[in-house]
Amino acid sequence: MENDATCGSDEAQILPEKLVLNEFSTVKNVIAIMSGKGGVGKSSVTSLMACGFRKKGFEVGVLDADITGPSLPKMFGVKGNPENVAFGLLPLESSTGIKVMSVNLLMPHEDDPVIWRGPLLGKMVGQFWTDVVWTDLDYLFVDLPPGTGDVPLTVMQSLPLNGLIIVTSPQELAVMIVNKAIKMANIMNIPILGLVENMSAAVCPKCGEEFQLFGPGHGKEISERFNIPFLGSIPIDPKLSMLCDQGRVEDYDSSFFTDFITGQLAK
Ligand code: ADP
Repeated sequence: MENDATCGSDEAQILPEKLVLNEFSTVKNVIAIMSGKGGVGKSSVTSLMACGFRKKGFEVGVLDADITGPSLPKMFGVKGNPENVAFGLLPLESSTGIKVMSVNLLMPHEDDPVIWRGPLLGKMVGQFWTDVVWTDLDYLFVDLPPGTGDVPLTVMQSLPLNGLIIVTSPQELAVMIVNKAIKMANIMNIPILGLVENMSAAVCPKCGEEFQLFGPGHGKEISERFNIPFLGSIPIDPKLSMLCDQGRVEDYDSSFFTDFITGQLAK
């Protein structure tokens, strides 16, 4: 019996070719953000990276490929339907000028669920590349759904990725699953630009003592084992979740984190 994970599945038949970017778009770098499981802060890291690059003066877009769990419009506080013009769909713009496209912006109501099967989800993400007008972008950050399913596969296959950022949290399970993500990226031949450990520690608001809610992290250890750059740790900060919930992620001072990452990636 063939030992091929996609053998016999729909995926084996729908693996797309590289997609052609909308003819009115220019995108210099495409970076996807991936995590092994949900809730580890992948969308938050995507947003913080976009904000960091924007603050440094780059033209930035975010493509929400987490079709069934979209959160970027909410974090950036963008609302309304993208305008459909003759040459494509125009992304919405955040208050600092980050271009945002998400399936949530296309639904009649933001709390409408997307109940589609895998191939359709992949097709939607493809259309965000072929039909959306991303004007003069230096960086497009793609927020992948968690795991190694249809959509991450479609993005890795059909978008010209410069690389992947992997987000993990210190929990054992997250570490086990992140290994799978790293192995998938290696199989798909996509460079891993680095690993970010989120929710690494919490700081007591009274005494300032740092404590590790999920035990010691393994981000550095994984980075060393797989020989990928460790981009840093983000502590648990209630201010971050509050600003994300209020649609004001751009107001979060993440310079401690983004300065380092932008420095690494913009080289
Ligand atoms: P994912 O994309 O991995 O599912 P999110 O980025 O949506 O995760 O984060 C899940 C929740 O955790 C959100 O409410 C977010 O605001 C919160 N969160 C993420 N990272 C942090 C952090 N470092 N400090 C506090 N809250 C965080």
